[in-house]
Amino acid sequence: MNISCSAREEIWEIPQSGTARIAGYWDPEGTPVSKPSFVKWRNGKLTVVGLWDQRMGDSDYFLWQDYYLLPGWIDAHVHLALDGIDFQRSFERWSDPLEMDQIMKQFLKHYLELGIVGIRDGGDLSGYAWMAKDKVKRGEWMGPEILSVREAVYRLGYYGRFLGQGIHNIREWEERKEMFFSQGLDQLKVIVTGLISFRKYGVVGPVQWTVDELKKLVQDAHKRGYKVMGHVSGTEGITVAIDAGIDSIEHGYYVTKEQLQAMSDRGIAWVPTVAPVGNLLTRSTRRYNLEEKEILRRILSAHLESIFEAYGGKVNLGIGTDAGAYHVPHGDGVLDEMTWFAEAGVATLDVRKMATLGNAKILGWEGFGRLQPGVLMSRLQLSDQILGTKTLD
Ligand SMILES: [Zn+2]
Repeated sequence: MNISCSAREEIWEIPQSGTARIAGYWDPEGTPVSKPSFVKWRNGKLTVVGLWDQRMGDSDYFLWQDYYLLPGWIDAHVHLALDGIDFQRSFERWSDPLEMDQIMKQFLKHYLELGIVGIRDGGDLSGYAWMAKDKVKRGEWMGPEILSVREAVYRLGYYGRFLGQGIHNIREWEERKEMFFSQGLDQLKVIVTGLISFRKYGVVGPVQWTVDELKKLVQDAHKRGYKVMGHVSGTEGITVAIDAGIDSIEHGYYVTKEQLQAMSDRGIAWVPTVAPVGNLLTRSTRRYNLEEKEILRRILSAHLESIFEAYGGKVNLGIGTDAGAYHVPHGDGVLDEMTWFAEAGVATLDVRKMATLGNAKILGWEGFGRLQPGVLMSRLQLSDQILGTKTLD
């Protein structure tokens, strides 16, 4: 079996059972321990983690004493079938399955090297991420566990043509939904609005559904046990998503204080995906001129303020990157997104809690995001990060 050593960006092969010395450990429900410690595991699962005792001796221990043991990160929003560099090139690559296999394998391995043990994929028209998920599950490929929406539902003629086949209206949904669900999916993703404009502040692509229409989609998914994630930005679209009873708001640019309050009250998660906007300002790109960068800065600063507001208002915040979007690299994007959350004013330890336990809850995954007996060693990471102790409460 494997464990991610994010401190060295390596994947280590370890035996099914063993003991190791470690520098310390952290479970998101507890306080970080940064004293010499040890961990024991049997049949791939953690059995004990605790403080090191001199009397334990040195023999038969893995010497991981430079590393802290913590749960692996989860990225709550990626697009494995896009490369983060060139959308058109990514799109063309979809007609070459062999090249797709090769590039997705690289991305998946890199996730593990960075200690990212789970990802939620927001879909692609060809269903590449869904196929990748099966390959990882069968052990053919090395990679994080994948939750995949397979393809997204959007209204034909609106934004989303590369994310799914699309439907014209709810009547068509009624006719095709059994087939849609029988293809397989882990969550339902609905495109509720278009993209935000980088050229005009406040402008968002049109809302695709009425509250009643979206409610229908959400209820059909809930009846079958699937959570619903909504790609949505702009005040109008976010209200539709909240009223329709969606489980998570993805992106959510231009969210208002009142909407954040409603999300907190109803337990709707928010995955704000800062990286696709923020990274355009921190990484060098000539695609946008000075005026556009000024707009991006305005969008970013309002978004970071909303994240801080959501944090104080106990909204369930998720770390999701939209990896595969322009300038959002697979794997490294998670570290970018965590930095953006810290920039918004979220305490470091809380950011880490969101990227582990918080995301596991959004994905509906047991056995992820915790450091406790019974958890698989392959869902943990060895990190060299100094653990902060500051939290909001
Ligand atoms: Zn997406």
